[in-house]
Amino acid sequence: MQRDDLKFEGMRARLVAQLQHNGISDYRVLQAIGEVPRHRFFKDGLEQFAYHDKAFPIDDNQTISQPYTVAYQSQLLQVKEGTRVLEIGTGSGYQSAVLCAMGAQVFSVERYKNLHEKAARILRQLGYAASLRFGDGNEGWPSHAPFERILLTAAAHKIPEQLLLQLMPGGKMVLPLGGSGSQQMLRITRVSENDFQTEKFGNFVFVPLLKGTVK
Ligand code: SAH
Repeated sequence: MQRDDLKFEGMRARLVAQLQHNGISDYRVLQAIGEVPRHRFFKDGLEQFAYHDKAFPIDDNQTISQPYTVAYQSQLLQVKEGTRVLEIGTGSGYQSAVLCAMGAQVFSVERYKNLHEKAARILRQLGYAASLRFGDGNEGWPSHAPFERILLTAAAHKIPEQLLLQLMPGGKMVLPLGGSGSQQMLRITRVSENDFQTEKFGNFVFVPLLKGTVK
């Protein structure tokens, strides 16, 4: 373990206590957040802020989601050991790492080549075996479908139907839905081939789900 990691361990334990206090109760989520070195996903010079419960800027005008949001979405996903999860919006790679730490088999798509490459590098260094793809997440990842879970970490202004079709029956998709400003968190369950049920949760703020890729 590096000296830095020791220094950050205490901060991470305090963050976990704060998340628990704010209503996160899934012990797998809390354990994963207590384990993943969030500071390694930060830009140089900003690492000391990594255990504040806040979103922070990463490259390409994007953000690493707030820990509470990561915890909340991870909890809604109800992930078990080996669950196949498709994430749309790799960004820094932090959410992917948290899902890997929870034992999920993670697939993640990012539309910025630069972010995709950086996340791939850091996840590999940390030993998290997520499968990453550079591409437009609106298309999902057909060659690896169907998935048990799909997670959008960018705000969709309408429900992406192509993604729903990559859910296996019994599978669930968690997504923030709405325009800029604020979005509502939804969990959609594919009850059977043609039957979907929607549950609604609180409001959050995400960067938008866009179209196409940026090299
Ligand atoms: N899960 C990330 C959050 C990053 S913010 C983390 O833990 O850091 C959301 C990310 O979604 C951004 O990196 C953005 O570029 C990406 N994104 C937006 N639209 C996308 C699309 N159509 N396909 C893939 N990624 C997309």
